Amino acid sequence: MAIHQHNHKLWLFILIILSLCVTPLKADSEVVRIGVLSHRGDQATLRMWGPTADFLSYHIPSYDFIIKPLKFDEVNPAVEGGNIDFVLVNPGIYVNLEVKYRVSRIATLYNRRNDVPYKIFGGVIFTRQDHPEINTLKDLRGYTMMAVDATSLGGFQMAMREMVENGVDPYSDLKALRFGGIHDRVVMAVRNGEVDIGTVRTDILERMARAGTINLDDFRIVNPQTVKEFPFALSTRLYPEWPFSKVAHTADSLAQDVAIALMNMPHDHAAALAGNYAGWTIPLDYQPVHDLFMTLKLPPYQNLGKFTLSDAISRYWYWFLGGLMMLLFMVVMTLWVMRLNQVIKKAKDRLEMQHELILDSVADGIYGVDLHGRSTFFNRAAERITGWKAVDVIGRNQHEILHHTHADGSPHKAEECPVYQTFRENQARYVSDDIFWRKDGNSFPVEYSSTPIWDDSGKTVGSVVVFRDTTRRKRAEEEARQHQIELARAGRLSTLGEMASGIAHELNQPLTAISTNAQASIRILESDSSNVDVCVDVMERIASQADRAGEIIRQLRRLVRKEPLERTEGDVNDLVNAVAVLIWPDIRRESVRLELDLEESLPSIPLQPIQIEQVILNLARNAIESLSEKRSGERQLYIGTQNKGHKSIAVIVRDNGPGVNPELANTLFDPFVTGKPQGMGLGLSISYGIIEAHGGKLSLNPAFQEGAEFNFYLPFAEAS
Ligand code: ADP
Repeated sequence: MAIHQHNHKLWLFILIILSLCVTPLKADSEVVRIGVLSHRGDQATLRMWGPTADFLSYHIPSYDFIIKPLKFDEVNPAVEGGNIDFVLVNPGIYVNLEVKYRVSRIATLYNRRNDVPYKIFGGVIFTRQDHPEINTLKDLRGYTMMAVDATSLGGFQMAMREMVENGVDPYSDLKALRFGGIHDRVVMAVRNGEVDIGTVRTDILERMARAGTINLDDFRIVNPQTVKEFPFALSTRLYPEWPFSKVAHTADSLAQDVAIALMNMPHDHAAALAGNYAGWTIPLDYQPVHDLFMTLKLPPYQNLGKFTLSDAISRYWYWFLGGLMMLLFMVVMTLWVMRLNQVIKKAKDRLEMQHELILDSVADGIYGVDLHGRSTFFNRAAERITGWKAVDVIGRNQHEILHHTHADGSPHKAEECPVYQTFRENQARYVSDDIFWRKDGNSFPVEYSSTPIWDDSGKTVGSVVVFRDTTRRKRAEEEARQHQIELARAGRLSTLGEMASGIAHELNQPLTAISTNAQASIRILESDSSNVDVCVDVMERIASQADRAGEIIRQLRRLVRKEPLERTEGDVNDLVNAVAVLIWPDIRRESVRLELDLEESLPSIPLQPIQIEQVILNLARNAIESLSEKRSGERQLYIGTQNKGHKSIAVIVRDNGPGVNPELANTLFDPFVTGKPQGMGLGLSISYGIIEAHGGKLSLNPAFQEGAEFNFYLPFAEAS
């Protein structure tokens, strides 16, 4: 029996050896690699998970499952390279693989916690009992905190999610944040008062209390949560435990076999006990883990909410394309507009050149004036006529340069300048007779027009002045006038014959006076030869009348010979007084009341005194003769002189006789027009010629009704 028993044991041993030998010799079995996150070293990983691989090999005999421990940074390359068929990692890594490599969970681990299986877990945030003021997540602000590790799901990230969602950023809102590396260390740090707050995964506190390391009563749970059938202190949401996943290339049929095998594993199976878990359940929803990573912007969601240029381009490429085309279009348009501008500028330059050419080729002087009277342009003719250069004039006041003084030397006030008046009254002006000043200080006669310039809105912005030097025209006019005088003289010459008899008449008066006076002096001497004084007086009169007769003859000679008259300076008042002396005997004889009205201090003007005297005498004699028709005592003769500004002197001879016969009025100044039986009709005609030769005019005032009024004026400057 003992032997039998011994044999029995021997057979069992042989069977085991055989089974061990046969397993690796399974020639037709395919190797299936299960990558497992190895955070405590490869040996520990193989020890924990090797039995699970064996379990699967046993239940799915056509495959040989082996464990491939993977360090944290080996997980991604292994999945990506297809070096593993299944992967067993924590939920955090799983969601990354799910997003990046499309791995899919086929089962979720039942974790063995205090000998009870749990497929979910969470985080707990706690403080010491002596911090009664810390209750809610918001209360954490400003305290010191310790967590397990920045990458620990249950030991930090779960708590952080709750804090962030409550507006507390553990990195910036706490007084300090430290990491203890392992869960127990965190608990102890809080208990010892090193930090105010701690966070670890659920069940740690209960495990340590059961082991007698801590007393749960020393701690207070922050933001405590109660979930049905979840017995551990909890401060956060709950998340699923580790998933068992297949990678993308693994056949579904194999995955299905593996899932079935895992679900069927009893919770106290040796493989489960080795892995410190309690079996497997159907795969849970890992969306809470995704949400957590999204909230904390951790991989694979680190770029969530960030929008890179390439994202933008790939998402909105049509907008970019549109924008680019728009930009291109704008560049083309800009270039086109620039070219157009250039063309316009060239055209404008050409126009301006033409404009300038026209301005410069016009014979008239043209210049522009702005509202301040400053020259804005000055054409070439203007330069030539005035001697000023455009550069000297432009920008300067044209009035002060060209227009400052009147012809008589008096200043020309700017406010009276027609150019200013043009834009003040907004009306074009034409001035026919004015003077401008040259650069050399000489003036020249001009006629000019000044026209307002309007801008586009119709506002006056200045004026343009077009002027012409009228020196030549004036000279021509003067020549024409001289010609007229010549003609008149010729006319007079042609009537010379008739004039001979006129001379007799003209001489008749002085000769009659001479004879009367000579007879008178004979009578005086006959009656009383001693009355010498009276005789001498009469003789003097004779001599003076003889002189007059001689002068008349001399003038007639000159008239005929066309000798230029000698001009001297003379005072018109003196001439009137001399005439008064000559007519005095007649005045007295005819009882005429003579009124002399002479303006004081008349200027001396250039004239031929005897001729002017002759004219005044003629007018006075005619007046006295006409007064014979008036009753004695009512006869009045008026002779006056007036200074007409600085232009001329006027002489007026007026009587209260019957006035000029209206029939004669139009021909009065023609030769041989007379209203008297004995008259020659030469007096007024000769007088008219004399005054005209002095540049003046003799006329009958038609408005004077109480008799006859003759007047003439003698200009200062224009006498010839
Ligand atoms: P005459 O005196 O030889 O006739 P005038 O040429 O001096 O020649 O005068 C022409 C005419 O004009 C005169 O005949 C006279 O009829 C008229 N006349 C001139 N002066 C006066 C005057 N003061 N009042 C009226 N008639 C006048």
